[in-house]
Amino acid sequence: MATEQTSASPTAGAAAFTAQPGTVLVTGASSGVGLYATKALVGCGWHVVMACRDTAKARAAATALGLPEASLTHLQVDLGDLDSVRGLVQALRATGRPLDALVCNAAVYLPLLKQPLRSPQGYELSMATNHLGHFLLIQLLLEDLQRSTHPSRRLVILGTVTANSKELGGKIPIPAPADLGDLSGFKAGFKAPITMASGKPFKPGKAYKDSKLCNMITTQELHRRLHERTGIVFSSLYPGCVADTPLFRNSYPLFQKIFPWFQKTITGGYVSQELAGVRVAQVVADPAFAVSGAHWSWGNRQKQGGKQFVQELSEKASDPAIAAQTWDLSLQLVGLG
Ligand code: NAP
Repeated sequence: MATEQTSASPTAGAAAFTAQPGTVLVTGASSGVGLYATKALVGCGWHVVMACRDTAKARAAATALGLPEASLTHLQVDLGDLDSVRGLVQALRATGRPLDALVCNAAVYLPLLKQPLRSPQGYELSMATNHLGHFLLIQLLLEDLQRSTHPSRRLVILGTVTANSKELGGKIPIPAPADLGDLSGFKAGFKAPITMASGKPFKPGKAYKDSKLCNMITTQELHRRLHERTGIVFSSLYPGCVADTPLFRNSYPLFQKIFPWFQKTITGGYVSQELAGVRVAQVVADPAFAVSGAHWSWGNRQKQGGKQFVQELSEKASDPAIAAQTWDLSLQLVGLG
């Protein structure tokens, strides 16, 4: 059971943590963390359903990494569109494959918007894509996960340090820490002119953080509501600062240049896409990560060789009353409430 990446190549240890391979659906697998998670999972025998906005891009990215076509299924989804999410679920079921694990990874980060973009349902696009699309996908696929006979069914959601005020990165007030306030934006239906879950004025960078806070809240609430009954392991993770993924493509060009350098040479917190992918794969497949309700981290200043630990979450992410309210309102917003 290898849980540390101590070798020179971060994927070299991937096969070592294989429990029993199965089928996993990864959203946003066409680049960055999701693509390299796909690589690591395929490397230890899993079949990966790459659920991507652009399947041609996903296929080309997988081919460029030399991933065998037979280990992959390509399905199209726009997570910002609830109808498209429903279509993905139908398409997955039509493949006849069981679903043994689900990784909610796709995200958009749009920090320079002056005005909010809207999803087809009229919701602010960061929250719609990162949280609401995944929330609906999870609700619909829970029954598929429950049907799986895999000995360790898992649902994994990507969180982040900047949405957890228990950590230094979550205290940075630029533009503001993650905070859903009294959820009055969600309560009022979250459509124009409302842009934020809190109902407060639009801050695009904060919209991303709020959506990631919702991701971590969802994991905690899934664990509280469903782990005991279903046996599914629900967990989130912070894969590290993967400063050179396309996530930052909508930031200032200068930031895109300086940020990876800063994380590599000043903070030492930089994590490669390859290593971040292995971390996701571990949370999916390594028996050492079969801890429901855990938020995994490898710390902020660690490179390869780091060991995972369960990171404490802020009250905003772990308070059961906030979580229950966020869950119920999210159900309504995705049309299930
Ligand atoms: P990335 O390379 O930009 O990957 C994001 C993926 O999401 C891409 O495949 C993208 O597809 C997809 N996506 C975006 N909008 C979509 C939509 N509407 N429908 C379907 N797919 C969509 O970024 P990344 O850094 O790997 O981020 C992956 C996850 O890690 C995110 O959840 C992020 O919050 C989390 N994370 C990242 C970091 C970091 O430092 N990078 C740190 C902590 C957490 P397209 O190619 O079509 O755009």
